[in-house]
Amino acid sequence: NVQVRMRRHPEGMVTEDDFDIVSVDVPVPGPGEAVVKTHYLSLDPYMRPMMDPLRSYVPHLNPGDLMPGAAVGEIVESNEPSLPVGSIVTGMLGWQTHGIVTPGTCRIVDTEAGPTSAALHVLGMTGATAHYGLLELAKPRAGETVVVTAASGAVGSVVGQIAKIRGARTIGIAGGPEKCRYVREELGFDECLDHRAPDFLEQLAAATPDYVDVLFENVGGPIFDAVLTRINDHARIALCGNVSQYNADEPYGITGMRYLLVHRVSMFAFVIADHREYWPGAIAEIGQWVREGKVRYREDIAPGLHNAPKAFIEMLTGRNFGKQLVEVAAS
Ligand code: NDP
Repeated sequence: NVQVRMRRHPEGMVTEDDFDIVSVDVPVPGPGEAVVKTHYLSLDPYMRPMMDPLRSYVPHLNPGDLMPGAAVGEIVESNEPSLPVGSIVTGMLGWQTHGIVTPGTCRIVDTEAGPTSAALHVLGMTGATAHYGLLELAKPRAGETVVVTAASGAVGSVVGQIAKIRGARTIGIAGGPEKCRYVREELGFDECLDHRAPDFLEQLAAATPDYVDVLFENVGGPIFDAVLTRINDHARIALCGNVSQYNADEPYGITGMRYLLVHRVSMFAFVIADHREYWPGAIAEIGQWVREGKVRYREDIAPGLHNAPKAFIEMLTGRNFGKQLVEVAAS
């Protein structure tokens, strides 16, 4: 069993030296347990704040801890009748080639619903995040203007496509012309703006003549402040993530407080892990949209567990293009 562990708390930008790759015995299942051989590991931005010794909604990691993460794989040994050998499951297995599951810590993946890797994003956690934050919290109405940051990513891509299904005018923000072209042409957003373009603020103003009714916020920092300057009266913000700040040495303060007050904006912060009961319905509806061709997605797959630290760092600097996965073993 190969594992990736946190060697030390990173200082600022995470580096490959902050991880250790170790070999240990393949776990032996106890009564009611099964062993999973991981096929795909999900890399997610939330893992970076977990590496800092901060107060949060989950305990932070300590040096030597296995890196946490959702994975999908195949049961290869089982002492649990409801988890037969050969079944495909997903659970929080961590960054390792083999892990232990019980019926309470994994779910069997419906292999008819799509490729099994999709259980780690569009038909899993990030899909549920998009659905919940947009439809339960921000509640866009037809004709309203919805802005989505990190629009080509796992969460953002689904948010914008659901907003379009609901009849909203949808504007993405993404890093670079290639991602913006994909967001407009493949995902069908009305507009996508490159936050690295020198005239980004002017482009944002031109794209939002009627201002912004809903902001689905994934990145925080200066991009968030820029959108606040275009916020409409009674706008709703789904506060989902703050990825631009996860490696920051100094916390970035919101400079646009004035806009929140003057325009009587409601901001809804949420963590999808609090809403487990919501996932199955959301995933079923998104699955239907995927089958109908109304929701598309893209994967960025790094080969081999040893590449996980590098791929993780690249995702946190915007070099991923689509949902970041690691192919741990061929399925
Ligand atoms: P993505 O697939 O969107 O990948 C991360 C993207 O963030 C990058 O591709 C990059 O996009 C953008 N990014 C990274 N660094 C910066 C930066 N310094 N400035 C601006 N953009 C940056 O990841 P996910 O879809 O998995 O996650 C998106 C957000 O949703 C994250 O903030 C995550 O923490 C949050 N999240 C929250 C959940 C919740 O329950 N609240 C659940 C799941 C995710 P680009 O190149 O376009 O800038």
